[in-house]
Parts: sequence; structure tokens; C-alpha cells
Amino acid sequence: MNVFKFGGASVSTPERVRNVGAILGRYPTDTLLVVISAMGKTTNALEKVTEAFFAGNKDEALQLFEGIKDEHRSMAIALGQEDTTYLNDFFTEVEWLLHDKPVRDYDYYYDQVVCVGELLSTAIVSRYLNDNGVGNQWLDVRDILRTDDNFRDAQIDWNYTGQKVQELVLPALQQNRIVLTQGFIGSTDGNESTTLGREGSDYTAAVFANLLGAEGQTIWKDVQGVMNADPKQYEHAQWIRELNYREVIEMAYYGAQVIHPKTIKPLQNKSIPLYVKSFIDPAGEGTIIHNSPIRELPPIIVYKRQQVLVELATKDFSFVGEGGTAEVYRIFEELKFRPNLTQNGAVSFLCVIDEHPEKVEALAHRAAQTFDVQLTRGLTLLTIRHYNDGLIGELCGDSSIILKQQTPETIQVLLSSSQAL
Ligand code: ASP
Ligand code: MG
Repeated sequence: MNVFKFGGASVSTPERVRNVGAILGRYPTDTLLVVISAMGKTTNALEKVTEAFFAGNKDEALQLFEGIKDEHRSMAIALGQEDTTYLNDFFTEVEWLLHDKPVRDYDYYYDQVVCVGELLSTAIVSRYLNDNGVGNQWLDVRDILRTDDNFRDAQIDWNYTGQKVQELVLPALQQNRIVLTQGFIGSTDGNESTTLGREGSDYTAAVFANLLGAEGQTIWKDVQGVMNADPKQYEHAQWIRELNYREVIEMAYYGAQVIHPKTIKPLQNKSIPLYVKSFIDPAGEGTIIHNSPIRELPPIIVYKRQQVLVELATKDFSFVGEGGTAEVYRIFEELKFRPNLTQNGAVSFLCVIDEHPEKVEALAHRAAQTFDVQLTRGLTLLTIRHYNDGLIGELCGDSSIILKQQTPETIQVLLSSSQAL
């Protein structure tokens, strides 16, 4: 039993959907649970629909949604499906809601609207595969994956979900060998849709791998495997053959866009290896992530742009101390901020956070009750694991260093110019 996850880019065009069929054809006897994301940039488009609806622009929301409907119908037709009426139930679920006026909070509507992206995508791909000799059963993951009602960041009820996996998923796998379902979405005990956070499909796949005791999980991406840097940001990015769970958690923590950070724990807990492979070159080796210690890793480079340095200084020149530090963390918790870097000083506390204008304002406002607050915007945070001096020099270039933190393994440098490479 293996779990496969295909991301949005792997099903963004009819040709790529056919390619997914070809990849599954390479595993003619394997039992596979396949998780597929929303097609291409559908999730972003659905976010726009939700925003328009929540701002009271019903017509705009409906019009934007019409565009999404057209795209999915065209996809189905391009894949040879003459009858696309099976998509109508999904469309209606959203339209019915868009005709109302918003009375609940934004996150609730977000989840009800956005979840349709994965439902449409999996329904279309499942039908395409069944029409083309890759028999499979489609499941609505909302009947299986139970969560709390913390919309947009829902937490999984492992007991209930585990039970449903035994009741619904295992028999379906035994009967049909391939089961296709959605990532990223779930449902409350009141049948309201929920989502697990952007890019959450990797995590869903890992939850299934854990509950099914899978032999392995494979994430199919448009890169050769895990790279030591984003090739768009660093031209010398190299492919890494083997990593361990710990290293990947560290990479995700520092902001590498490799794998959703929650993915590793369910796999690590059952020692299930994770493979990252290329859907463009499925015969390629890819990257294996597992438990073994790994020597000689290349430097791992992560850039975070649009960073804000927040300096919180005591108003009366008293020491920040434990009390002040505890207060800062209370504020982070209240506002759900996770700083990317922090540093304590005598009478000030520094932290670096992502630029979300409203949240930064809220933080500054709240912190001003206790501290003098100073903000510096437009910075870049560079993290290098397994660094060497030459590389630090090369990557910092001539931008000035505002802050530096270093352990034997990891160096983080806050740079003044967001153009820094
Ligand atoms: N479709 C969702 C997103 O784009 C979930 C995922 O792809 O993992 O964030
Ligand atoms: Mg994705």
C-alpha cells in the first residue's frame, strides 16, 4: 500500500492529467491511495470569489465563479468527456451559498467555497482515469477526515478519521486497488467543510499514510526532487538525493517551500519513507526522506522576502527581562504571529516577522501599550544550513547586514535590500 500525492501543477492542463494516468500506469499492481490537489491556480481563484462575496459583491463573486466553472468544464471536455453534468452538484453547493448574504465569519465562508477546487479536480481526474483503463474509486474525503471547526486551520480528529479509514478507505482499496480523494479539506461533525491550511494536501496524504500503515508516500512535483534552494532564487540550486525527517522539518521551519511542515510527523511516527519525485521525469530517482543520519549535506539556502524588523524597547529604560519577554510572547500568541527570528537585548527585544500589513499594524498597536515600537520594512531574511564562509559572503553580496544569528549548523542573516540574492 502506497500513498501518492499530486499537486496542482501536475493536473493544470489536459496533457498533465493524461500524464498522471501514465504515471499510475507504471504501477499496475500496487494498491494506491491517491490524493490530488485543486487544478493549477484554482485555490487562488476561489479565494478571490470568497473575498468578493464577503465584501458584499455578490455579482462579482458569481461572475468569478463562472470563470472557474468554465475552466473545469473545458478541462473535462478536453479529456474526452462529453457529459459534464456530473460537475453541477459541486457548482450548486457553492452558488447556493454565494446567493446568501454573509452572516458568519470570513474563515467559515472561505472553507465552504475553497474546498470545491479539490472536489472538482479529483472528480474530473477520477472519471478520466476510469474512462482510460485506470480503474479507481473516488471518495469525498469529507466523509472520512473529521476536524474541529477552526476554519482555515482545522485540526484533525485522529480517532474518528482512523475509524473511517478502516470502514471506508480500506474496503475501497481492497475492491478497486486505486482510491482517489482530496487533500487539504475535511469536515466537522456538523458537516461543514473545513481546510487544513494552504498547501495542506501533503499533510492529508501523510495522515492517510499513517492511518493505513503505508509502505511509503510519494509526492509528485515539477522538480527533480528536493533541491537545496529554490531554483528561481538561486541559479546553482542542486538536487539532494537523500534527507532525513529532521532536516526536512528544519528546512520547512526556516521557510523552504518544499513540503508542508505538518507532513513529516505522521510519517516519522511510523517510520514511513517519503519520496519526492518528478512528474515530468517519473523514472528519475527523486529524493528519499527517512530516518537515517545523513552525512555531507550541501548547504541549504532559504530566502524569505518582505520581512519586517520589529524593535520593542521598554519605555523607561528598564530591562526587558522575563516579564517583558513573556509579554511579547503573549502578544504573539494573541495575534497568532510566529516570528521568523527573535533576539533579546537589555532594554529591547527584536523580532522579524512576515509582512502582512494588517497583522503588522495590529501587532504594533497592541505592543505599543507596553513598549516603544519601531518597524523597519522591506527586508530579506536569508537562512543557510550547513553554511560556509565563502557562501555567506557570496549570498550577502553588498547588502548590509542588520542582524545575524548563528549556531554551528544554521546561520540567519537579515539583509537590508530585498533585492539581495
Ligand atoms: N489546493 C490547496 C492549495 O493550493 C492545497 C494544496 O494544493 O495542497 O493550497
Ligand atoms: Mg499545491
